[in-house]
Amino acid sequence: MYMPTLYINLQKLTENAATEKALLASKGIEVMAVNKVFDGCIETAQAVMAGGIEVIAESRTYNLKKIRATGCTTCLLRSPCLSEVKDVVRYADISLNSEPLIIRALAKEALNQGRVHRILLMVDMGDLREGIWFEHYEQILATVKLINELPGVELYGIGTNFNCYGTVLPTVKNGEDFLAIIKRIEVDCGISVSHISAGNCTSYHLLDKGLWPVGLNHLRIGGLHEFGIEYVDMKYLDEFHHSSKPVGKACSDLYQLEAEIIELNSKPTVPVGELGVDAFLQAKSFTDNGTRRRALLAFGRQDVPAENCIPVDDRITLLGQTSDHTLIDIEDCTSHLRVGDRVRFELDYTGLLMACQTSGVQRRFIR
Ligand SMILES: *Cc1c(COP(=O)(O)O)cnc(C)c1O
Repeated sequence: MYMPTLYINLQKLTENAATEKALLASKGIEVMAVNKVFDGCIETAQAVMAGGIEVIAESRTYNLKKIRATGCTTCLLRSPCLSEVKDVVRYADISLNSEPLIIRALAKEALNQGRVHRILLMVDMGDLREGIWFEHYEQILATVKLINELPGVELYGIGTNFNCYGTVLPTVKNGEDFLAIIKRIEVDCGISVSHISAGNCTSYHLLDKGLWPVGLNHLRIGGLHEFGIEYVDMKYLDEFHHSSKPVGKACSDLYQLEAEIIELNSKPTVPVGELGVDAFLQAKSFTDNGTRRRALLAFGRQDVPAENCIPVDDRITLLGQTSDHTLIDIEDCTSHLRVGDRVRFELDYTGLLMACQTSGVQRRFIR
């Protein structure tokens, strides 16, 4: 049965994970690999583990259940729901938390299951998603004390996250402010915080510029080894494999989507007739480029949105998409395409996310 195919290069993923781990280790930083873009894919989790990374994070508990088969240490990235604490304790060794009510429930459940659940307590340094607000020091302190007092849970570390909701960049200033909060906690609680988890792949720009605040010793990273892109200044990094495409496209040759040509013809570039709205109720305007050769591909918006696909052949341009069809202009294409041939696209992060989420795309692994 036909399905568009997503090719994932596991060999490069392993190499990238090894490169990332070594690079960060040389600066005293431990890394947790984030697998969430692959939606619980066991093969990609194994690939980064082969690169030497031991802790794998996912944002959904049911995906941790799947990847636990690899023998990795598991971390739940999205803070647990109160309704799922049983499964969180069962399938996650570590979880990100900020709510005392949920931490108490996790502790109680961990006792029931005879386990110790580790908590990465989140502090919000300004990006406005998860975490106790950085100015509410007493609340942070009280929560650390709670974790230390409750049997069944253990403080894995204290973390913060940048550049997700609020677009707040990781900087020397907010990094040092975060570190200062932790130093104060260490003094007030008489403890040493083992994992000071400074952010995600966007924190890498500070390392790249030699500005890393010494003392921040942990990161939770996906995009860096997955795409080889430094996402703040948006550049491909030489030490990782990347794409031949302009960095503005932010795609990577580790992931290619392949779809079959179902119709080939030459047609006008402007529709003929009175125009209304398209399949998604959008009005459109068209530029008249005369009659051009084009192909109809068997994949659509419900698989991967066209704006997240970049043709591997630069002479192919994307014309548009409906739910199940993608239209490409092949007039300038030098290869002789026929019906039944397959056309390849590199994917950006969102494209990869969508391709991994849908049941309408099959996966092939390059080992
Ligand atoms: C997604 C996520 C990460 C990793 O993000 P990347 O951009 O893939 O590096 C880290 N921490 C949290 C809390 C996340 O949700």
